Amino acid sequence: MRIDLHCHSTASDGTDTPAELMRNAAAAGLDVVALTDHDTTRGYAEAIAALPAGLTLVPGAELSCRVDGVSMHMLAYLFDPEEPALLAERELVRDDRVPRAKGMVAKLNELGVPVTWEQVERIAAGGSVGRPHVASALVELGVVETVSDAFTEEWLADGGRAYVAKHETDPFEAIRLVKTAGGVCVFAHPAAAKRGRTVPESAIAEMAAAGLDGIEVDHMDHDAEARERLRGLAKDLGLLVTGSSDYHGSRKTVALGAYTTDPEVYGEITRRATGAFPVPGAGGA
Ligand SMILES: [Zn+2]
Ligand SMILES: [Zn+2]
Repeated sequence: MRIDLHCHSTASDGTDTPAELMRNAAAAGLDVVALTDHDTTRGYAEAIAALPAGLTLVPGAELSCRVDGVSMHMLAYLFDPEEPALLAERELVRDDRVPRAKGMVAKLNELGVPVTWEQVERIAAGGSVGRPHVASALVELGVVETVSDAFTEEWLADGGRAYVAKHETDPFEAIRLVKTAGGVCVFAHPAAAKRGRTVPESAIAEMAAAGLDGIEVDHMDHDAEARERLRGLAKDLGLLVTGSSDYHGSRKTVALGAYTTDPEVYGEITRRATGAFPVPGAGGA
């Protein structure tokens, strides 16, 4: 059983539509795929309608959080998408994405980069606009070679020259909101140092005490040493360990199913969740 618990569609900053993502996940030989767009669940309906037989969808989201000035991402699975408090928080974060991206464009202009808001909007193509869209604009302009190259101190990494902070949820509040909505919380790529400063292990321990369910260990942004360290930390704290591609379509090079989650861990996630159920493909369009 091949399980990939972290994928983006055009509902945020992926390049596959939710329907394409489902078809590509099946073609990649996955049995289970999670749709985890940034701060939104609006890809769900299209994904469910297109779900091929033999593929199970785990509805989720990747929530933008910040603790002690450090940005971090929290994967939330199988929560009730209509639960009002969590819904309101997702909207608050999303509403801040446009002014924030505009702020990054302004800073880039000050640095002499001729990026425009229209360009970023075109690249976002109606999706929940984010830093990778601004990064893609820098690639288009030949300022950097790849999207990852834009995530440096020189450009868009946290604290970078063109970085602008946005409203981000306190992770302890995120855990509380997701739990209230019946969901399960997994700290995404906790040691992805190239994205900026990372959260200290002491804070992860506090989150574990506050109800965090797991940490994403097998991820392209973690080297062997980081994975080893995180596996040890998860064991010490009694946290589940996941692995996932963090697929973004053609915006990043990683393939669907490049990293996967153990079926036992997946089973435990589904057992803990009470807000929603995995959706088995009925062989639709
Ligand atoms: Zn992330
Ligand atoms: Zn992601």
